[in-house]
Amino acid sequence: VNHYLENITSAAHLNAFVEVYADEALGAAATVDQKIKDGTAGRLAGLVIGLKDVLSYKGHGLQAGSKILQSYEAPYTGTAVQRLLDEDAIVIGRQNCDEFAMGSSNENSSFGPVLNAANNSKVPGGSSGGSAVAVQAGLCHASLGSDTGGSVRQPAAFCGVIGVKPSYGRVSRYGLIAYASSFDCIGPITKSVEDAALILEIMSGQDNFDSTVSSKEVPAYSSKMEWNGKAKIGYIRETIDNEAISSEIRQQTLDVLNRLRAEGHEVTPVEMPLLDSLLPTYYILTTAEASSNLSRFDGVRYGYRSPESVDLESMYKKTRTEAFGEEVRRRILLGTFVLSANYYDAYYTKAQRVRRLVREETNRFFEQFDFLISPVTPTTAFTIGEKTEDPLQMYLADIFTVQANVVGNPAIAIPNGKDDHGMPVGIQIMAPYFGEEKMLAFASYLT
Ligand code: GLN
Repeated sequence: VNHYLENITSAAHLNAFVEVYADEALGAAATVDQKIKDGTAGRLAGLVIGLKDVLSYKGHGLQAGSKILQSYEAPYTGTAVQRLLDEDAIVIGRQNCDEFAMGSSNENSSFGPVLNAANNSKVPGGSSGGSAVAVQAGLCHASLGSDTGGSVRQPAAFCGVIGVKPSYGRVSRYGLIAYASSFDCIGPITKSVEDAALILEIMSGQDNFDSTVSSKEVPAYSSKMEWNGKAKIGYIRETIDNEAISSEIRQQTLDVLNRLRAEGHEVTPVEMPLLDSLLPTYYILTTAEASSNLSRFDGVRYGYRSPESVDLESMYKKTRTEAFGEEVRRRILLGTFVLSANYYDAYYTKAQRVRRLVREETNRFFEQFDFLISPVTPTTAFTIGEKTEDPLQMYLADIFTVQANVVGNPAIAIPNGKDDHGMPVGIQIMAPYFGEEKMLAFASYLT
């Protein structure tokens, strides 16, 4: 804990943590120390973790990077966090992120941007930017982030660390501030696949507080990390033969595919006609869900209330206008629009249909293949400020990550070298629904 506290202090300029629980973490460390001596320590004894500012930890600040939750404290601890605490993990602080997990660069936070530790003029990715940088810069052992469309994997790739999005329904969302409930997943960010496997194994499984969690048994991922045999790997041609992808990422992805071929795995290019529909489907459905989820922030129940309020209506309007950032307001408007009576069928219903088609196409793919490999992102980390004026450019950063959330499948981002400027490059492995066990073993084999 002392080691990490020192690192956090010397890396304060990165802005990865919004709050550090120094005394508490030291106290917890002393308790864990004693448990180790007594032989009663849990499986994560001594693991120092950070929590993205969307995860409830009782009695601690919780703001989702937003002014609207100013001074709000979590009234209970979420299931995933509680399960890690039960195994004696130590929480060192809460981490900066895009407001309500909406963003790809961590520039939408009311706490200001996070800097990429590999180059301080570059973004760390988002929305779990603080969580990725904290692992990248050695400010904690592991972080918990949330991934609705890539928010664990994309920043992991930009920062050269590992990020896992589990299957939808693998990890309880109880205690996670909702962005888009049918997409949201809590996932670990770590330096090794083994750590991610252990954390995932402990967090996963049935929970009485979240009815969407599967009762499927949780395999002991961390003790099944050996990959034997040959895999059938597919890749979508367009995710590589594409001018929008940086030539280095393209080459480094091809290098991995060639290596796998040379090692005797079957590697096959496939077509994915619905690829172009992924981002529109994602942004229609997630903004719809977000506009509904965020209606609870009304100035009454949580955090901030505008001091200018004079009556109920002005309280709603002023509170929400003053305290939500620009991107969040954009998405609430977009979501409200696609759900409105005259446009519901044209947008929302249609997007739901496309979601089903993408699921079917993806399921057909996994009838033939074990894994889908792609880059995580079309470019490496971009410069701070480069895309803030153009939301559509920003949304393109998620082009390869959203599929896993649209369909619910698990996916992992692992490091795959660096570009010519020393910025990390990642590669993504997607697996069949609830195929985490093989996915993690194969990721471990690849790293
Ligand atoms: N960048 C994507 C978005 O802005 C993904 C966010 C996320 O996964 N939470 O919606």
